[in-house]
Amino acid sequence: MPQTIPHYINGNSVKNTGEKQYSVYNPATGDVTAKVACATLVEINNAISAAKKAFISWSQVTPLKRARVLFNFKNLLDKNIDKIATLLTSEHGKTLDDAKGEVLRAIELVEFSCGIPTLLQGNYSENVGTGVDTYTIKQPLGICVGISPFNFPVMISTWLMIPAIACGNTFILKPSEKDPSVTLLLAELLQESGLPAGVFNILQGDKETVDALITHPDIAAVSAVGSTPVAESIYKTAISHGKRAHTFGGAKNHCVVMPDADMDDAADALLGAAFGAAGERCMAISVAVAVTDAVADALIERLKIKIPQLKIASGMNANVDMGPLITKEHAAHVKNCVNTGIKEGAELVVDGRDIKNADFKNGFFMGGCLFDKVTKDMRIYQDEIFGPVLCIMRVENFIEAIALINSNHYGNGVAIFTRDGGLARTFASQVTVGMVGINVPIPVPVAYHTFGGWKRSVFGDIHMHGPDNVQFYTRSKTVTLRWPESKKEKSAYHMISH
Ligand code: NAD
Repeated sequence: MPQTIPHYINGNSVKNTGEKQYSVYNPATGDVTAKVACATLVEINNAISAAKKAFISWSQVTPLKRARVLFNFKNLLDKNIDKIATLLTSEHGKTLDDAKGEVLRAIELVEFSCGIPTLLQGNYSENVGTGVDTYTIKQPLGICVGISPFNFPVMISTWLMIPAIACGNTFILKPSEKDPSVTLLLAELLQESGLPAGVFNILQGDKETVDALITHPDIAAVSAVGSTPVAESIYKTAISHGKRAHTFGGAKNHCVVMPDADMDDAADALLGAAFGAAGERCMAISVAVAVTDAVADALIERLKIKIPQLKIASGMNANVDMGPLITKEHAAHVKNCVNTGIKEGAELVVDGRDIKNADFKNGFFMGGCLFDKVTKDMRIYQDEIFGPVLCIMRVENFIEAIALINSNHYGNGVAIFTRDGGLARTFASQVTVGMVGINVPIPVPVAYHTFGGWKRSVFGDIHMHGPDNVQFYTRSKTVTLRWPESKKEKSAYHMISH
C-alpha cells in the first residue's frame, strides 16, 4: 500500500487526513509510489496559525541571524545534492544530471539570499528640513504563500520560499501534487539549518487547497508558478482578496536562426533546448524561426538525424538525454497535439509518438518530434504543448521574425542565433519578451538578476528572483523624524514645505 505523503506544519511532519487523493508515480516505470491527499480545512488553519505565531518572532530576528540559517541551508544542500536529485528524478522523471542542475540553480538563489542584510538596506536623507531627517526601511509582509509547478519542484519552490523567509516573512508552500516528496526533504534540511518551527510549512493539495489559502484573511502575499489559465486565475482571486500577488504562466519560446549563424551550433542548441527535460521546461524552445528556406533546410538536415538518436530511458540511468513525461495523461496529451499538427497540415519530419522503451514498458515515454512548415494559425503554434515537440517556422527576413514573436501572446523566453552584433542588439531591444538569449538558447538569468516573462506569461508587476523578490516580499515604510530642541514650537495648520 503506497504511503500518503504528509504535510509539514510547525516543524513537524503531519499526517494528511484529507479524503480527496491523487497518485504519485515513478514516471519511468508507471508505478504508483505514493498517494497525496488534499489538506483538510483544519490542517490548513493549523498551518496558518503556526505561520502567524512564528511571524511575531521571526520578523524580529536580525537579518544577519536569518542569513546564518541560510548559510547552513546552503551547506546542507551541497552535502545532500545527490539525495535531493535522486528523489526529484524518482517522481519527476528528468535525468539525474538535469536534477542536479536544478538543485544547483536553487543553491545559487540561496547564496544570493545570504546577502539579505545588504539587500534589505534602506535609505536615509539628512536635513529634509531644518533638523528633520527621513529614512525608508523595508519590512516583511506577514504570511506568504507559494504555489509551485511540477516541472521544477526544488528550484522554483526555493526561488519562492527562501527570499520570503530571508526578508522576515513566514511561508506556506503548496507543492505540485505530481511530485511533492522532495519539498519535504527541503523542510527537513531547513529545520536542521536552524530555522524555527512555523516559519516554513508545507500543505499538500490541489486547487481546493490553493483557494482556501489565497482567500484567507491572514495571508499577505501569493506567488504562484504554473500554466497560464491557472496563473491568471490565482492572480485574479488573490488580488480580489486584497493580497499582494505575482504569478508566472506558460510559454511559447522562439529561437530565431539567422543565415549567418553556425548551423551546427544552432542545431545542437535547439536539440538541448527543445528536448532537454522532455520539453517540460517553461524556458524550453518550442519554435525555431528559420530566417530563409535555406536555414530551415540546413537545420532540418541536422535535426532529423540527431533527434532519433536521443537516448531515452529512465532518468536514473547513466548517459540519458531524455526521461519520461510526468504522467500518462500528459504523454497522451502531447501525442494528441502532434496528431492535431498533422491534421492542421504541418509536416511531421520526425515522429516520436510511438517510441517505447524496452526496459520500461509502462513508463510515460515518447520520442522527440519535429514539425516543419508550421504556420501562425495552427494550434500547435498557438498552444503551449509542454513536451518534446519542436516546430520549425519559415520566414523571409528578420523583420518578419520579430513581428511573429511580438504578436504571440506569450513572452517568457526567446533566443537568437547570429554573428551580427548590431542585429542582435536591435532584437534584444525590440522583442516583447522578458528573457532574451543571444547565442544562448535557454537564457535563465542567474540568481542576482530578475526572472520573469511578459504578456500572458506573467500576471503582476514584480518579477521573481534576485532583487525583485526582495521588493515583492517587503513593503517600505518611510519615517520622518525630528528631535525637538528645547524652544517651544507653535502648532502648524498649513502643509509643511521645505
Ligand atoms: P499547473 O498550472 O497545472 O499547476 C501549477 C500549480 O497550481 C500546482 O501546484 C497545482 O496543484 C496548482 N493548480 C492547478 N490547477 C489549479 C487551479 N485551477 N487553481 C489553483 N491552483 C491550481 O502547472 P504544472 O503542470 O504543474 O506546471 C507546468 C506549467 O507551469 C507550464 O505551463 C509551464 O510553462 C509553467 N511554468 C512556468 C514558469 C514560469 O516561470 N513562467 C516556470 C515553470 C513552469
